[in-house]
Amino acid sequence: MGRLYIETVHDSGGEGGEGRVRKIFKCKWCKVEFASYYDILSKEFQGRFGRAYLFRNVVNISLGPSEERLLVSGWHTVCDIYCTSCQQILGWKYEKAYEESQKYKEGMYILEKERIHGTWLLIPPKSMQARARYMEWNAGWASILKITLQTIPVL
Ligand SMILES: [Zn+2]
Repeated sequence: MGRLYIETVHDSGGEGGEGRVRKIFKCKWCKVEFASYYDILSKEFQGRFGRAYLFRNVVNISLGPSEERLLVSGWHTVCDIYCTSCQQILGWKYEKAYEESQKYKEGMYILEKERIHGTWLLIPPKSMQARARYMEWNAGWASILKITLQTIPVL
C-alpha cells in the first residue's frame, strides 16, 4: 500500500493571519478536508441522503465510473465521488448536463450535507482582551450552526 497523499483545502476566504477563520468541510468519518465554505455555489440541492451542497472545488476525493443519470433537473453524465482516505461515498460530480439551463453544473461537485462536517479553524488575535471576545463570539455561532471549533495557536 502506498502512502496516501492528502491535500489541504485552499481557503479563498482571505489572507492568513490572526483574527481570521478558516471554514472547512471535512469527512464525517476520517476528518480529511474536502472543501472550503467559500466554494459553495448553492445549498439548495437534493442528494440521496437529504440536503446537499454544490461546490466549485473539492479535494481528497476519488471518482467512480461515469454514468448517465436522470436527476430532478434532467439527464446528466455524473460520477460518484468517494473519500480517498476512508472510501465513504460523498456525493457526485457533474461531468455533462444536456439541458442548456443546467450547463453551469458541469465540472462541479455535490457533497451530501449528512456526510460532511463543518469546522471553523480559528486563528485568534494575539492580544488577550481581543482574544476572549473573539473566542466567545465564534463559540456562539458554532453552537447555532452545529459545527466544531478548532483553535490554531498563534506563536
Ligand atoms: Zn473519509
